[in-house]
Amino acid sequence: MNRLSETKVKKLSNDHNTIIELESVVIGEGHFTVIAGPCALESEELAVKTAKAVEHSGAKVFRCSLFKPRTSPYTYQGYGIDGVSLLKLLHKETNLLLETEILSTDHLDALASEADILRVGSRNMDNYELLKAVGKTNKPVILKRNMSATLEEFLLAAEYILSVGNNKVILCERGIRTFETYTRNTLDILAVPALKELTHLPVIVDPSHSTGKSSLVPAASKAALAAGADGLMIEVHPDPLRSYSDGQQSLDIPTFEKLMKELSDMAVLLGKKSFSAVLS
Ligand code: PEP
Ligand code: MN
Repeated sequence: MNRLSETKVKKLSNDHNTIIELESVVIGEGHFTVIAGPCALESEELAVKTAKAVEHSGAKVFRCSLFKPRTSPYTYQGYGIDGVSLLKLLHKETNLLLETEILSTDHLDALASEADILRVGSRNMDNYELLKAVGKTNKPVILKRNMSATLEEFLLAAEYILSVGNNKVILCERGIRTFETYTRNTLDILAVPALKELTHLPVIVDPSHSTGKSSLVPAASKAALAAGADGLMIEVHPDPLRSYSDGQQSLDIPTFEKLMKELSDMAVLLGKKSFSAVLS
């Protein structure tokens, strides 16, 4: 695929660059935005504690998943829709923007009323009814690449959202399935410049699900920044070993804080217009 066929993608072939502005956060066009938070919200106390810690480290957007798509139905499935009250509380307790995964169109109104950014996870990248439903809102949507999707399939999924009127789509590379088993997925780092070449949409990287190992998250994060990504989505937990899900790939608070400092220094060297709150 050298060029996207214009019969398949009409909105993605625009030549302007999409910039998403939400309060003081700018996503795209030389700005670098860090989204951080636990894999899933577990309790009110932990959510507030984690949100305040990531805010203190310079993140501007809190990852607050209420619904967890899990491989096994017997593992923690998330807080559920009652957690919308937790989003209200987080808005009160912090200045962070809130980002959450939507699994079903049934939850669209409730989630869109409190969350600032919606996320369609990798397992739902091909859920066309969900894509069209989020496309009818005016909320920015993070669309994660399915672990087996080609870039063309990924972009056609984005086109589903754009085609019904929502142009605020942020593409997220989260690793693809390969023969390698040491890492949970293989971070397709060249997807970042390739997607930038092919589209006008911001591109972020999830270094947590793409590696599956907290020890590798800093390197994957720095590689993403160096490759031209517009931001990161990082899993952070105050006590990763006791996390209900994905503790093995979650950074603890001190490690996240250290990484944020290193990324901030790199962002200056790379001439980024802003790094979360720090440079702007
Ligand atoms: C997630 O971000 O919570 C998640 C489940 O990741 P993915 O959809 O990329 O598997
Ligand atoms: Mn996770």
